Amino acid sequence: MPESDLFPDDRRTCEQCANLAGLRCLAAWRGEIVANRDYEPLRDILRRCEGYMPNLKDTNGHQQGYCKDLERDPNERIQ
Ligand code: SF4
Repeated sequence: MPESDLFPDDRRTCEQCANLAGLRCLAAWRGEIVANRDYEPLRDILRRCEGYMPNLKDTNGHQQGYCKDLERDPNERIQ
């Protein structure tokens, strides 16, 4: 099914996230998302994650400004 221009799919996989290190999520390790510190997410599932940071595999995220809303104070802690 073609992606709609009115409702673009803004979900991403962990494979497209700079916080994925091997099997583990570094955002979880730092306590930035609600998960165990040794969280190993399913890497190929589309999701909207508050810890998401686009890596070089996410070309759409940069074009659509997806990460704009995710910029935050580095001292901020999500509970
Ligand atoms: S921050 Fe979210 S999207 Fe990124 S690796 Fe962790 S769980 Fe996946």
